[in-house]
Amino acid sequence: MMPEALWPVAERDFVVTGEFGNSPGYYAQFGQLGHNGKDIGVWLGTPVYAMYDGEVVFEGWGQNHPWMGGIAGICVLLRHWWGYTGYAHLSATVVNIGQWVGKGQQVALSGDTSSSGAGSTGPHLHAETLPLAPNFLNGFAGRVNPASIAAFVGFAGTPSPAPVPAHSVPLIPERSPMLPVSGSSTALPQKIPADGRHHLLLRKDGKVTRKRNQFAAGPCEMTHRNVAIRATAKPGAVLTVSICRYDSDNSETVIDRVELPANERGVVRALIPVTEKLEAGQGLYLRVRATADATVTLYKFRGFKQR
Ligand SMILES: [Zn+2]
Repeated sequence: MMPEALWPVAERDFVVTGEFGNSPGYYAQFGQLGHNGKDIGVWLGTPVYAMYDGEVVFEGWGQNHPWMGGIAGICVLLRHWWGYTGYAHLSATVVNIGQWVGKGQQVALSGDTSSSGAGSTGPHLHAETLPLAPNFLNGFAGRVNPASIAAFVGFAGTPSPAPVPAHSVPLIPERSPMLPVSGSSTALPQKIPADGRHHLLLRKDGKVTRKRNQFAAGPCEMTHRNVAIRATAKPGAVLTVSICRYDSDNSETVIDRVELPANERGVVRALIPVTEKLEAGQGLYLRVRATADATVTLYKFRGFKQR
């Protein structure tokens, strides 16, 4: 019977950006018949989880392991009773060689590394599977189609964002002042494509990791303070804003979710109340999903009590 493996990321709405066997023309330069794994489009720093119970055979730069190779960048290779799973282009690993990991245990953070120094093909996770006795001359460097060796029956980690029902908040009429909001905008206007995904709102430095894009960091207490948001889209568009909490173990919890409809001119203005006590190592950030391409500006969380 096929082992039941988990997808190695928590996001249920992730996008598979490369299938096994894709792009034979491109992979010919590496002497392969096509792409030898599955590419999952995720942010830099997304937790990567073990697809199955196993032992860490290798972690580190791929050029230091004959099976992985420099193209893998920072990678992890796990051995299971039925074969191997590999995780490539990581930004960091959180396991050691020889360590036993359970199915769904975090092994790494996603990244964009490769030995070329120029990164891989953009931030993503490359996940691959090999049988116990790989045939390295099979045209895919010994890798096999994940679907041929394991049944993927679920997702590892906490769903991101978790299914929190959305509610509405009062919108601010266009002519009334946006304030009270202290300070200036915290984020640059950001384009959110209508691709069904929950996009992280970036701070002004634009680094795509959740921790760097916290709008509040613990320890602190937020009591009915507001997040002000301004967006333009097309009339009738709906923005869904998820208030997400980052925890010290890298997990993400959606603590609230609001739906904001655009007015007849395609404008969204709203204040979102946030009440949350953050411990050290926790932070808050926002994700936005839009039903039409939107441009979103987020204003500072109003002052909150630092403990
Ligand atoms: Zn790949």
